[in-house]
Amino acid sequence: MRGRTTDSTFMQRALGLGLSQLGKTVPNPSVGCVIVRDGVVIAEGATGDGGRPHAEEAALAALGGEAEGATAYVTLEPCGERSNGACSCSQRLVEAKVKRVVFACEDPSPYASHIGTERLKAAGIEVETGLMADECAALIADFVKNLPVKR
Ligand SMILES: [Zn+2]
Repeated sequence: MRGRTTDSTFMQRALGLGLSQLGKTVPNPSVGCVIVRDGVVIAEGATGDGGRPHAEEAALAALGGEAEGATAYVTLEPCGERSNGACSCSQRLVEAKVKRVVFACEDPSPYASHIGTERLKAAGIEVETGLMADECAALIADFVKNLPVKR
């Protein structure tokens, strides 16, 4: 079953994961990710100390990179490009064959925003944004403060 209540429950859990790493992930924002299949959490992750791995990367690694038909709940838009050349989280989610991605906040970086979303949608993945965005914004507040000003 799909519903606002269920989605909020899983996003709340993702938020908790992100909060547990808050302050430890500089220079990256702390992110929480929960992967659910048939209403059951099959994997979860948070951004690692020092910013790596990313939350989605950690959660998918626990599944061997396979999450066919699952829904991923992420507190922040999955990244579309990695500055270090590593596979982006949006690409990993595509390869894992998730069917739906629900994320709270859009990537606040002017250079990264929407790239991940476009990649997911291009692969036919259902994308929903904004769920609990106000609550999850607390995870990226410091990150946003230190962003270069968009010109
Ligand atoms: Zn990422």
